[in-house]
Amino acid sequence: MRVAVTGGGGFLGSHLCEALLRRGDEVVCLDDFSTGNPANITPFLGNPAFELVRADVSRSVDVGGRVDAVAHLASPASPPDYLRRPLQTLAVGSRGTENALRLAARHEARFVLASTSEVYGDPEVHPQDETYWGHVNPVGPRSVYDEAKRFAEALTQAYRSHCGANTGIVRIFNTYGPRMRPHDGRVVSSFVVQALAGEPLTVYGDGKQTRSFCYVDDLVRGIMAMLDDDEPGPVNLGNPVELTVFELAELVLDLTGSRAEIQFHPLPVDDPTRRRPVIARASERLGWVPEVGIEDGLRRTVRWFADRPADIAAALTAIRGGQLDGGSAAEPRLPGPTLAAS
Ligand code: NAD
Ligand code: UDP
Repeated sequence: MRVAVTGGGGFLGSHLCEALLRRGDEVVCLDDFSTGNPANITPFLGNPAFELVRADVSRSVDVGGRVDAVAHLASPASPPDYLRRPLQTLAVGSRGTENALRLAARHEARFVLASTSEVYGDPEVHPQDETYWGHVNPVGPRSVYDEAKRFAEALTQAYRSHCGANTGIVRIFNTYGPRMRPHDGRVVSSFVVQALAGEPLTVYGDGKQTRSFCYVDDLVRGIMAMLDDDEPGPVNLGNPVELTVFELAELVLDLTGSRAEIQFHPLPVDDPTRRRPVIARASERLGWVPEVGIEDGLRRTVRWFADRPADIAAALTAIRGGQLDGGSAAEPRLPGPTLAAS
């Protein structure tokens, strides 16, 4: 297949590009590197099956030649990233998704949307299966991400039902692993970096809120299964083993042998209290189940970060200065060309 991967320079996208190349597909990666890292895809640049298009997909998505499938992953994903870029996040979830859908429709290609467990908001139903409609604050700070993804799902569904497009939606639960940016502000990267540096682990709230963490290799297998299928979804992809944030902090301390303390900080507004996917649909329809346990996955992640002491030192300097890494392009205070683009 020749697969266009929007957001292919990011954490999940670069692993997806790598897995597609490994099985013999051709890949066109579209990314503006607003939250991605060019180093993620540098190793693929010499591969004739890999092509990089630097572009803001909210403006246009242009790919020359044949396209058999489109995986639409472009979007900030870490809360500090999307809170810093509210308008860009809404733009890529709406116009970016439509541009990616149009590309797929033009080529009669399979389209897969990377949606999120955030569409369930702060869920009143636990655990969450795909029939749950969610509990989202439409004007809270997280709404720029949650509602953009909900709109993206609606648009994807409309392209399927009204335009006959071959679309699929995956709802991704917290995923972690190598190539997370060390100061992207997400919980796994933050705790691992802090533990390795002997700095206090920053637990928000009382740490009793839960998440279910999926290792990146498992998640990428799920996205590929969806690309290869005609399944419309939505399909939850995540590891249903649920941990409190405090338990995660203790586990990271244990695995790193770190003696760092745990510090409590205020809980962010609208931070969901619990999250656990029901994955029966993924298992029945795609034959997908996660295989990497949390301890094994965290060990692999810790090893990867431990091999990058300079990145950790730079990350800690930024965290101490209150500057979580928002990638290369922060949003202007006043709406500029991003809003004006058609
Ligand atoms: P990431 O920030 O590492 O990757 C996103 C990529 O998209 C980056 O390379 C960024 O530069 C690119 N991008 C953003 N806006 C763009 C635009 N307008 N044009 C072109 N490129 C753009 O995040 P990630 O964790 O790899 O997430 C990838 C996708 O998966 C996102 O859509 C996210 O919503 C979804 N997701 C991720 C998780 C997770 O736990 N990692 C959970 C749920 C959903
Ligand atoms: N969190 C935390 N300390 C951190 C970063 C995050 O306690 O340094 C918490 C956060 O408040 C949330 C959970 O960890 O309850 C997961 O946060 P993350 O940003 O990874 O993803 P989310 O699921 O909220 O999108």
